[in-house]
Amino acid sequence: MIDYHIHTELCCHAIGKMEDYVEAACGADLSAMGFSDHLPFNETHMKNLSMELEDLEFYLNKIPELEKKYGIKIYKGIEADFYPEKQNEIEDLLNKHEFDYIFGSVHFINGWGFDNPKFLTEWKNYDIDLVYRSYFQNVIEMTKTGLYDIVGHIDLVKKFGYFPKDSFDKEIVEVISAVKEADMIIEVNTSGLRKPVREIYPSEFVLKNAKEYDIPVVLGSDAHKPQDVAGDFDKAKALLKKVGYTRTAVIEKRKIVDWEEI
Ligand SMILES: [Zn+2]
Ligand SMILES: [Zn+2]
Repeated sequence: MIDYHIHTELCCHAIGKMEDYVEAACGADLSAMGFSDHLPFNETHMKNLSMELEDLEFYLNKIPELEKKYGIKIYKGIEADFYPEKQNEIEDLLNKHEFDYIFGSVHFINGWGFDNPKFLTEWKNYDIDLVYRSYFQNVIEMTKTGLYDIVGHIDLVKKFGYFPKDSFDKEIVEVISAVKEADMIIEVNTSGLRKPVREIYPSEFVLKNAKEYDIPVVLGSDAHKPQDVAGDFDKAKALLKKVGYTRTAVIEKRKIVDWEEI
């Protein structure tokens, strides 16, 4: 299996050097790994959420170096936000570099970092159903930009275990069909198991819908410390099998180039 979602200390909220993550991947049962640290994001009130611009070159140059040193395939990925007011900047930066894949992630709703523990108390100012509606609307808009390859943690909005009163089945189907329309991949992200919600992103219901639309999937641990690399992949594989998936995608230079049996 490949762990596509790995951060580094460069983003200022993860622990461990790039080497430490590669060593963890070598020690886990992985066929390859991919770094996907947070793309530099220049927003003054959002410190320590992403790499600094001057670290991006270092990060990209370090990957082939480590690949050689450790003899494990390392993909050059990145996790980029969907942030409507900054899309031009994000696009410019993405276009300036060559990545194997780009995660598109919604971490903000109208500028509110809803998944950031620092802004947790703000949840009480909002109607949860409305937060869910806005979140999924953002995911749909993100798919329409054509900028990203993989939807990161597609139902991240559930992170703190707040669930809506209404059923969101209809919205979920809309999201999944937008992902299909955009020819994107869905990430099965195990970090939710380490968060208050104690659930993989996406939920079984979301993943079942993704399977019905035949949307390719990849695995990600969203490791922010080396010991989380490949964390709970057995659970992710069990969930995938349960909804009918038999393989995960291998993505390189922004295209699916192969498949791995689960
Ligand atoms: Zn992070
Ligand atoms: Zn994320």
